[in-house]
Amino acid sequence: MQTMKMYVNGQWTNSVAGAFFSTYNPANQEEIERVPRAGKEDVDLAVAAAKQAFESPEWQSLKPSERGRALFDVARKLRERAEEMAMIETLDTGKPLSQARSDVESAARYFKYYAGAADKMFGETIPVAPNVIDYTVREPMGVCAHIIPWNYPLQITSRGVAAAISVGNTVVVKPAEDTPLSALKLAEIFSEMEVLKHALQVVTGYGKEAGAALVNHPDVNHITFTGSVATGASVMMSAAKNIIPVTLELGGKSPHIVFPDCDLEETVSWVMRSIIQNAGQTCSAGSRLLVHSAIKDKLIGILTEKMQQIKMGPGTNDSELGPIISQKQFERITAMVDRAKEEGARIVIGGKRAIGGDLNKGFYFEPTIIENVSHKSEIAQEEVFGPVLTVFEFETEEEAIELANGTPYGLVTGIWTNDVSRAHRIAGKVKSGQVFINDYGAAGGVELPFGGYKKSGIGREKGIEALRNYTQLKNVAIKMKSK
Ligand code: ADP
Repeated sequence: MQTMKMYVNGQWTNSVAGAFFSTYNPANQEEIERVPRAGKEDVDLAVAAAKQAFESPEWQSLKPSERGRALFDVARKLRERAEEMAMIETLDTGKPLSQARSDVESAARYFKYYAGAADKMFGETIPVAPNVIDYTVREPMGVCAHIIPWNYPLQITSRGVAAAISVGNTVVVKPAEDTPLSALKLAEIFSEMEVLKHALQVVTGYGKEAGAALVNHPDVNHITFTGSVATGASVMMSAAKNIIPVTLELGGKSPHIVFPDCDLEETVSWVMRSIIQNAGQTCSAGSRLLVHSAIKDKLIGILTEKMQQIKMGPGTNDSELGPIISQKQFERITAMVDRAKEEGARIVIGGKRAIGGDLNKGFYFEPTIIENVSHKSEIAQEEVFGPVLTVFEFETEEEAIELANGTPYGLVTGIWTNDVSRAHRIAGKVKSGQVFINDYGAAGGVELPFGGYKKSGIGREKGIEALRNYTQLKNVAIKMKSK
């Protein structure tokens, strides 16, 4: 086992207290690495370094196009090291290698996309009076804090960091304690680059220690948080004390709405992929299947058959379904499914731990379909964060919309029909930040604004829209003298 250092002020460092914690491989529970356990003093140093980097003459005088070029180089270096990065992500998260490879490619695409945006953050001129020139400028916020979850560590770090740096901020990243490795590997790339060397700090540590110290720090100017609703609420309260903005990407209970005139094969393949990917540990997982009664039995039949063929195993074998991140999360999933059973749910397939051979070394949950539960029950309303799909039947479009909107969340909706008018009618009525018609997820969707209605969050990430989070607007008015 090795010990890694964290990255602050262009240096690799231990924590001030000299403490460490370990990260484990979810496929076999073995320790992978030890990393520093940052405390408040370490966060103070990281925020001070980010502030100093932001205020430095070098950073302030950098042309946006030069920042863009540097971010473009990060994308290139990520692609050059794709295989190494993917393997680290698989070891740390447990996800299948091909999914980790696709995460690395998405991370590179974020850097490339926001590299191109660096010199395109335009202001406006505003007509006021003949003798007044008025214009707006979008200025960076300053120090941006990024609190990262464990499900897509490299991808989520990259989408926030690339956007924030693109418009001239510097950043402090606190990866999740379960998966700190890929953010440290990304810091290696930054450490090799003169222009960006001080723009990124990565502090590893626990949420209640390093995370809390970071979101409460008075010199942090913006917080991006991705994670649970409860922690998101606590982060928002910390931000309120310092009157700083937050971008929150929280949970989801996203529905697929399926009509009899859909392309059945295509629908089944996306419904399955969107609940199996990353073992269902995805905020945008399609975890509710709302299906018209005329097609329900047929759809469930095909879906069940396909789920029976899913290959489970360690991510390094490039299975289709890897282990759950930790015993704690596995127990949470099991408890939710057990409570649904007690309420009379019918388990169509799965519903329990998968065992045998390599599977015994990790916590694997079988691909699961549940039906015959009330839409008011916990399994219908709350995020499971496992490969668990709950099915509901509808007769009319109105019923489908009511079900779709009937949870505290509103992240993504999938609509499956060949009736264009119906698809648009429903897209207009569902309360979610993204809607896909005859598609789901749109291949990573780097370009598409992403975020939630209701308890799914505040603000938008991805696309050009995300850059608004990381800038503040200044209005300048100039009065001209009459001759
Ligand atoms: P989970 O319970 O699934 O681990 P969380 O939402 O608690 O999800 O974790 C997401 C991220 O938030 C992690 O990086 C974690 O360390 C961090 N975190 C947890 N608690 C806090 C907190 N009080 N303040 C700031 N960050 C936190």
